[in-house]
Amino acid sequence: MKLIRIAIAALALTGAAAPARAEDAPAGKPRTRNVVLVMSDGLRWQEVFGGADRALLNKKDGGVADVDGLKARYDRDTVEARREALFPFITGVVAKRGRLYGNVGEESRVTNGKNFSYPGYSETFTGFADPRIDSNDKKPNPNVTVFEWLNSKPDFRGKVAAFGSWDVFPFILNRERSGIKVVAAWEPPAGEALSPQEKLLGELSGNIHRLWPECSYDVFTFHAALENLKREKPRVTFIGLGETDEFTHGGRYDHYLDSAHKFDQYVSQLWDVIQSTPEYKDQTTLILTADHGRGDAPVEWKSHGAKIPGADRIWVGILGPDTPARGDSPLGRADQNQIAATLAALLGEDYNAYQPKAGPVIPSALGR
Ligand SMILES: [Zn+2]
Repeated sequence: MKLIRIAIAALALTGAAAPARAEDAPAGKPRTRNVVLVMSDGLRWQEVFGGADRALLNKKDGGVADVDGLKARYDRDTVEARREALFPFITGVVAKRGRLYGNVGEESRVTNGKNFSYPGYSETFTGFADPRIDSNDKKPNPNVTVFEWLNSKPDFRGKVAAFGSWDVFPFILNRERSGIKVVAAWEPPAGEALSPQEKLLGELSGNIHRLWPECSYDVFTFHAALENLKREKPRVTFIGLGETDEFTHGGRYDHYLDSAHKFDQYVSQLWDVIQSTPEYKDQTTLILTADHGRGDAPVEWKSHGAKIPGADRIWVGILGPDTPARGDSPLGRADQNQIAATLAALLGEDYNAYQPKAGPVIPSALGR
């Protein structure tokens, strides 16, 4: 009985039941029917693999207001414990049952050479770096994203949705041309059959003070996406969170860590909903990543861009029924330009055939 109780407790701790194993799938046919891509802007690989950076848990370099409080939340004696404290879901579930790319020796990289947001999102969504995309200006993306391409297929039409904290997403995703549902920044959830929760989210976000005119708080973005997922059951969802970038540019390591921790909690909550919803359970893959990296402590963690060493380094997490747990096998490369083709391949679609410029599928994400 005690053993059973421990097993149940372990299951409860890690979210829901383990996804069906990749080995059970018929050869060549993915089990994944739905994908959710969640990105946290500029969230560093240093924290994802190392937990809170001890060089920044202070007022001088980290701009931390309550050092003791921050240390109580995230500082621990070992790297493993610090990771676990900051990212319990990514560390305990994604890295163990799925794959987490980007650690030292297995670096994941941005290939656009610019290492800032619009080029990074565009590379993620289209699968290639386009030198014409050289600013964060609100210009409609000339390229077709994997989302727009999927939405043009009968199986996916009207079943692709994007929710982003940043007000440039409607342009990166070319909302006008692509026809996909895009809700960005301070826009309230819109539509005919909104739930009471969605209406309340719109009211709250419309009435709260705004730290950043161009970027809403992630709590609104996440819950709008989650409510939409529960109600409309899209097959492809993008969720773009922005606080991790805003707070680092502002030099507040304490707020950054709290937002990074919230990102982990959101993803955990999302996975619980996925695994308790019949349309999603055991047939949905979660992809997690960032649009660029940032520099190191003590100063350049606040910045990113072509001139900041290491800002081209990202991390990629994949959890779902087609992605076997790592075990002892090597991860292989997982660069930013491979995400679009991998997302499509998980859905059984060949994006590279449509867009030859896109990076190749990440083989280990599909157990190949
Ligand atoms: Zn960014």
